[in-house]
Amino acid sequence: MTVWLRGDHLLRHRGPLSRRPDEPLLLVEAESFARKLPYHPHKLTLVFAAMREFRDAVRESGRTVHYRRAETFADGLAAHLDEHPDDLVTTEPQTDAARERLRSLVADAGGTVQFVPDERFLCSPDRFDAWASGGRYRHEDFYRFMRRETGYLMDGSDPVGGEWNYDDRNRETPPEEWTPADPPTFDHGETVTETAEWVAETYAGGYDGPPYGGDWADPEPFRWPVTRRQAVRALDHFVTYRLADFGPYQDAMRDEAWAMSHSLLSTSLNLGLLGPEEVIERAIGAYETGDAPLNSVEGFVRQVLGWREFLRHVYRREMPELAGANQLDAQEALPEFYWTGDTDMACLSDVVEGVRKRGYSHHIERLMLLANFGLVYGVEPERLNRWFHAAYVDAFHWVTTPNVVEMGLYGAGVFATKPYAASANYVDKMSDYCSGCPYYKTKTTGEGACPFNALYWEFLDRNEDELRSNHRMGLMYSHVDNKGEEEWAGIRERADEIRTMAREGEL
Ligand code: SF4
Repeated sequence: MTVWLRGDHLLRHRGPLSRRPDEPLLLVEAESFARKLPYHPHKLTLVFAAMREFRDAVRESGRTVHYRRAETFADGLAAHLDEHPDDLVTTEPQTDAARERLRSLVADAGGTVQFVPDERFLCSPDRFDAWASGGRYRHEDFYRFMRRETGYLMDGSDPVGGEWNYDDRNRETPPEEWTPADPPTFDHGETVTETAEWVAETYAGGYDGPPYGGDWADPEPFRWPVTRRQAVRALDHFVTYRLADFGPYQDAMRDEAWAMSHSLLSTSLNLGLLGPEEVIERAIGAYETGDAPLNSVEGFVRQVLGWREFLRHVYRREMPELAGANQLDAQEALPEFYWTGDTDMACLSDVVEGVRKRGYSHHIERLMLLANFGLVYGVEPERLNRWFHAAYVDAFHWVTTPNVVEMGLYGAGVFATKPYAASANYVDKMSDYCSGCPYYKTKTTGEGACPFNALYWEFLDRNEDELRSNHRMGLMYSHVDNKGEEEWAGIRERADEIRTMAREGEL
């Protein structure tokens, strides 16, 4: 038996590698796979460098590692099985369809493959399916179920502190003099340097699809952990310097603070360099020693124990329909500025610029700026999903699809209970962008009016048939009802103007 690990399953002390200490390891780098989308070079550097570092670390431990570099997975597997005929064992992919694709890929290469559980997650498919058998999914119910199942932040059968969440303490905007701790840096060695150069040369010609009209020129130096040791340092850094402030400011946005106090651990969790239980337990440990408040720790635990696990299973159960879901029938193309950052809108310009530099922006910028704009503008969900998938270092299809198609763009209605639509009012409350923006945050129509405003009202108007009966939208529609015909004419005219400006690159 040979353990075959894919590039986002780099688990050494858990999973099939630890359970089969005497078996060789196979890793396959497929060059063409990375041409499916115009991926950010940091994302490609991250995955390929992490695989190469993993290869070296496992070899140093004395195990045989077969490392294949090939044009496709099919080529790499065929070449390997030709030389070393053996049965393969690998971790379960996220969906039944993906499992069948892998099975036939290996069969075509002349081998067989056995699947074992994916230990990057805490909740197994059977456990989730048993929980979900009651009907519609609700994240809050799942999260409480997981708290009870694992005992994390539990005091007997009650939540520690008496509440299941502390959201009411986690919506603050930081005082002006507040500055977050600097994000950690890593002393990347030759592997990262060589991989980054190789990525630049290999993918300079672009990717295999239609042109997207943008590139990722001039990113900052690569900054993400690529080894287990670096990932553990990133975890230490977060728990020591950032966790305490994470909770209260988790929804806030600051022009000069791209990371705020977010954990920056998603790349390491999604590649398997860190396990969910160790990051949760470190955070809870900080609460128990009095180094981080409960609202911060609970907010972080909810992301890892709740949302990350929940979305993975929603994806597993709702694919392939979820990827193409579009219940609001949004048909617009993605505005070019998502690629270039070339817009006068101060909020979106800054966030896209950050994505261009680092392949990253934090959660609330993703949801309330990038996805919110896509939602009210009417971008087809699949298109925005592709952009997130290509642009973010921590994005994999199982992560972005439920987050973008469902949560951000309300594409399917499988778990989101309402669309996250917001106007400049929200952006202004949670950020410092509006004061430096050439658009007027308080204007809805006419020249210079903030694009979010007219688009927000026009979105509610355009989707009234689908949304008015939703009881969570009642307040919004009471405001819709207060507007007169003349006001609506101005809103529609401004929304049309904004779409024209966006198409012409003048927004
Ligand atoms: Fe963004 Fe509008 Fe605020 Fe400008 S005014 S920063 S476009 S929300």
